[in-house]
Amino acid sequence: MDQLAFNDTVGSLEDLVQRNTVITVDSSLTLVGTVKRLRAANLILNGKGYELLPRQDERPESNFTSLIGDPLVIALNRYVPRKKVSIDPDSFVSKRMILARDGYICSYCGGFGNTVDHIIPKSKGGLSTWGNLTTACKDCNGRKGNVSLESMGYKTPHIPKSFIPKRNQVIQEAIHERLASLSY
Ligand SMILES: [Zn+2]
Repeated sequence: MDQLAFNDTVGSLEDLVQRNTVITVDSSLTLVGTVKRLRAANLILNGKGYELLPRQDERPESNFTSLIGDPLVIALNRYVPRKKVSIDPDSFVSKRMILARDGYICSYCGGFGNTVDHIIPKSKGGLSTWGNLTTACKDCNGRKGNVSLESMGYKTPHIPKSFIPKRNQVIQEAIHERLASLSY
């Protein structure tokens, strides 16, 4: 998939991360990675960072949000040298990102797919990672359920390697776009 098609399908910044995850940038507003929401709260309360962008989607009120608001992106007060940045590939995994990566094509039958399947089922210890999540149509997802690929006669889906650097760039650009839109 090329960059343009990816940008078109990936949706808003909120869709790029899971609900319990906060995007982190350094003092130069360059992407560093993600932290869990509790960690983000600690960083803010300890004066090590501040909320750069709030989440704009609806979510229920919680103890967390009443404490520090509802950050989508926090900025650290320190600069992180580029050579020290290695973004965990699984930190940005989300349903929208998996569907965008796979172009809404079911990995099993090649038809239109808009659900995400755990290749190794969760019940068998499969994790929610880039390598273990793939796009599936409702039929294939339902049929596969908790059984292994081999027993269904399915092949292991192809996971494109070029996706993750593009994804990081898309996230960085989305942060800058959101900031630009707020400054007018
Ligand atoms: Zn299918």
